[in-house]
Amino acid sequence: MIIIANWKAKVNTIADAKKLVTASRTLADKGAHTIVIAPPAPYLGLLSLTSPSKKLRFASQDITATGGGSETGEVTGQMISSTKASYVIIGHSERRALGDTDSVVLLKTKQALSSKLTPVVCIGERKRDEEAEYLSHLRSQVDAVYVGLLPKERNSIILAYEPVWAIGKSASEGITPDDLIEMIRYIRKILAAYLPAKKVEDTIILYGGAVEASNARVLAEGTGIHGLLVGHASTDAKTFTALVKALP
Ligand code: PEP
Repeated sequence: MIIIANWKAKVNTIADAKKLVTASRTLADKGAHTIVIAPPAPYLGLLSLTSPSKKLRFASQDITATGGGSETGEVTGQMISSTKASYVIIGHSERRALGDTDSVVLLKTKQALSSKLTPVVCIGERKRDEEAEYLSHLRSQVDAVYVGLLPKERNSIILAYEPVWAIGKSASEGITPDDLIEMIRYIRKILAAYLPAKKVEDTIILYGGAVEASNARVLAEGTGIHGLLVGHASTDAKTFTALVKALP
């Protein structure tokens, strides 16, 4: 499985970041899973260039929608690639809340691909409604990305299904395994419009939102996902270790 640790704007010192990376490298080297750390931008190069390991990889939490230049505060795909990071999280709900529309998400995805980075595109409904409008919302987020990509680019996307209502919550408030199974099936149904059947099944789909050590296994086993995107439980060595060790 792939476990992405999204540190968000947490882990406030380089010293703490290094300690967390050391714990994650031990987990990655001893375990069966690939761990991907998505640290705050100031730490990315420092950590990724000094912690080489096949099973410990790095991601940027965002990327510019353009090629860069006079854009104070932005980070380009080329800069991210030069740190030896492999992935970019795109369209996280916290970025969408700050203005990343579906079309910005597509532009960022293209920027990542052109810099040979794997885009981890986040999708997910803000809330659930009885009329199941949330399903159309999810479909439109997937459509907005896939419709704008070339067929071969579509094979290189990782999707992260992250219902916004679950993000930052505790495990008891998260999604149930049955609901997750249903949602992953639904997402693969949407993908069938863009990819041949084999590629639909091969598309890596991660789940994120309220995953902790207590629910990691039931959410990861038999639900059709290939890994997890973990927020709050990834910023403390003890909780993250417990979560990764709980996985099948
Ligand atoms: C996230 O924000 O990507 C996330 C999964 O957060 P949490 O694990 O804290 O719900």
